[in-house]
Amino acid sequence: MIFLLDSHCDAPLMLAKGADFEKKVEQGFVPGSFPITHIDYPRMKKGGVNGAFFAIYTSNSLAPDESTRRAFELVSKVYDSVENSPGKVAFATTPSQARRNARNGLISVFLGMENGAPIQNDLSLLRMFHRLGIRYLTLTHARSNQICDSCTSPEPVWHGLSPFGREVVAECNRLGIMVDVSHISDESFWDVIKYSKSPVIASHSCCRALCNHPRNLTDEMIKAIAHKGGVVQINFYPKFLSEEYGKAAIGLDDKLEEADYAWREDSSNPQLQANLQKAYEEYAAVPRPSYKVIVDHIEHVIKLVGVKHVGIGSDFDGIEFGPKGLEDISKMQKIIIELRKRGYSEYDIKLIAGGNFLRVMEAVQNPNLE
Ligand SMILES: [Zn+2]
Repeated sequence: MIFLLDSHCDAPLMLAKGADFEKKVEQGFVPGSFPITHIDYPRMKKGGVNGAFFAIYTSNSLAPDESTRRAFELVSKVYDSVENSPGKVAFATTPSQARRNARNGLISVFLGMENGAPIQNDLSLLRMFHRLGIRYLTLTHARSNQICDSCTSPEPVWHGLSPFGREVVAECNRLGIMVDVSHISDESFWDVIKYSKSPVIASHSCCRALCNHPRNLTDEMIKAIAHKGGVVQINFYPKFLSEEYGKAAIGLDDKLEEADYAWREDSSNPQLQANLQKAYEEYAAVPRPSYKVIVDHIEHVIKLVGVKHVGIGSDFDGIEFGPKGLEDISKMQKIIIELRKRGYSEYDIKLIAGGNFLRVMEAVQNPNLE
């Protein structure tokens, strides 16, 4: 059986905004109603998705105590949502649990943490989040933190991992938490490769050779991840898939975010509502790359390092739009269909769909079996 796994989505953000994943969450964009979402349980089922990592994301702009509080809030929202959907979804913290869930007709919800800010300078907080079910740690997000530098920081602070960051990597290795290199700077990446004793993952990153963006991985990085036994999970964000799209859409995401922020501050103001609608329409009008470009990125990794080191991490609910043809998680089977069209065997497709990621998870959780 194919276990279709999405290793990164920002569903907890939508749960925190009040989305009910039992229902199909409203689509499209209407100021005053719920924002655009890409995920809920009925759409996961429709897409044949067997499991997804829900990211406990905190912004680098939060103060340390606030980021810890926010992380606990998001974990709690995911627990509430899973508990409210018995018979449909269940938590998974190990690959065997996930496969058992799938055999029982349940979609697995896994937890990852995006940005290590909530653990502050205290490894006991990392252990606490592990006890709550966190099974990977994206070391930072858009800015540098106490652990390492980000690939989108204006200036490096540490030139790689901080001394505490090295302790975090060692503790993740000991606990069986996968270290995630998505979002971190190139220098931080090479430090993680040097210091991690376990395989590492890129939970949602594309290939820089196909789209030159600092969030994407160079061929050398992809080879280093594979050499360590890890896996690269391809992101669906049109800006990371296509340079041409990135150029056409430049600044439009910030404009939308600013308009959204202004409107939320004063939502009864018709002018702010009109500005928001306009910012959305302007951004939505940029032609998006086809979902087939995701498969181009998958194939690039395969050409470099073979079929055992690639998978998918959509970034749904954390991105404004998916690529053309894969607008939300209900359309996930299109990836499988496209891989079949390109001549991949069912065995290879099984690996790409989730087998590779689950193998890495198993190896990180049981280092002595290696
Ligand atoms: Zn991200």
